[in-house]
Amino acid sequence: MSTLTQFDVLAIRREFPILQQEVHGHRLAFLDSAASSQKPRQVIDCLEDYYRRYNANVHRGVYKFSEEATFAYERARGKVARFIGAASQREIIFTRNTTEAINLVAQTWGATNLRPGDRILLSLMEHHSNIVPWQMIAQRTGAILDYLSIDGEGRLVLEELDQKLTEQTKLVALTHQSNMLGTINPVRMIAERAHAVGAVMLVDGAQSVPHMPVNVTELGCDFLAFSGHKMCAPTGIGVLWGRRKLLEAMPPFLGGGSMIKVVELEQSTYADVPARFEAGTPAIGEAIALGEAIDYLSAIGMEAIYQHEVELMAYALERLGNVPGLTLYGPLTTEQRGGAFSFTLAGVHPHDVAAILDGQGIAVRAGHHCTQPLHRHFDVPATTRASFYIYNLPEEVDRLAVGLEKASKLFQ
Ligand code: PMP
Repeated sequence: MSTLTQFDVLAIRREFPILQQEVHGHRLAFLDSAASSQKPRQVIDCLEDYYRRYNANVHRGVYKFSEEATFAYERARGKVARFIGAASQREIIFTRNTTEAINLVAQTWGATNLRPGDRILLSLMEHHSNIVPWQMIAQRTGAILDYLSIDGEGRLVLEELDQKLTEQTKLVALTHQSNMLGTINPVRMIAERAHAVGAVMLVDGAQSVPHMPVNVTELGCDFLAFSGHKMCAPTGIGVLWGRRKLLEAMPPFLGGGSMIKVVELEQSTYADVPARFEAGTPAIGEAIALGEAIDYLSAIGMEAIYQHEVELMAYALERLGNVPGLTLYGPLTTEQRGGAFSFTLAGVHPHDVAAILDGQGIAVRAGHHCTQPLHRHFDVPATTRASFYIYNLPEEVDRLAVGLEKASKLFQ
């Protein structure tokens, strides 16, 4: 396969220490970045530099390290804001991950704004973290959940918006890119439709922000949630972006230090956003390292990253099409589709597929990928999933295909 990639993948690979290893005597082919990406030296060094040189709590200290840590932490917030096209860095709330960001919205915006009979519109392809928080708040408030269906290729059935998006709908919460199918959803159009009925739109960007240019102003959504660990940053740091007006009207999520103005014995007043939503000591080094990961990805270019994955996906669709007994779930073209795909292999359990591939140094994921309703829709208990990122090569698609052919033969 000739490569059109605009960056040097081999040079990128050299920047990821973990990719230099052999696994079971084979060069590691890491095809599980949808679960968590690997980290470049630049990000690892940044985290280490914080702990070695200026580790201190933020916002309150008046000594040199604390001021340096505060400056770096707030600078990271600014980097996140610019990366996603936010109007202000005050709209960026650091959370632990996507899951916490969505729970924050459900527990604060949801608890304040949802009434019995109000409707929340989700889709069948949501990750559990964009389903369960809404079930929990629906049970508390009496709101009702609706789900957009998907077609045989794993795309949303958009015609259903006519009946399922109504004046009763108060919130639409949708994934930008499916972690199981790779489908990219038309969130901009759906945000417009949501606003036309007075609903608020939350986008789960866990699988889009790491892999393509995402600009909240262009998307026109109201909330965006994503995780650092899927975009070359450490675990323990995630982001909620929200429109300032909405955030300012929301009550706190967790109570404690840093989120208050005045504490009295019976009651307290709360800090302005974003501090109101960042109770307790945050993941300081991790947030700073997320800023570094954003610098790293931006230097490569998000559009180039997206094109690279589309190219790998196009090759995977072609190459895996020749593997006997393989069923692929999700779009069979690269149009509006990213580089994550799930499949089954006739006669071989998905976990056995993954174990056989592991024996050849190929890391993939097997299970329900936190999308049980979606697996139920396809009537499969589990699938194997492979996913691409900046450091993957066409030859890894070949190795995957050969590994699957081997697995198929072994079980026949
Ligand atoms: N949404 C999607 C689409 C995801 O892929 C994931 C991670 N698999 C999540 C939400 C949850 O992310 P986290 O576990 O980092 O909170």
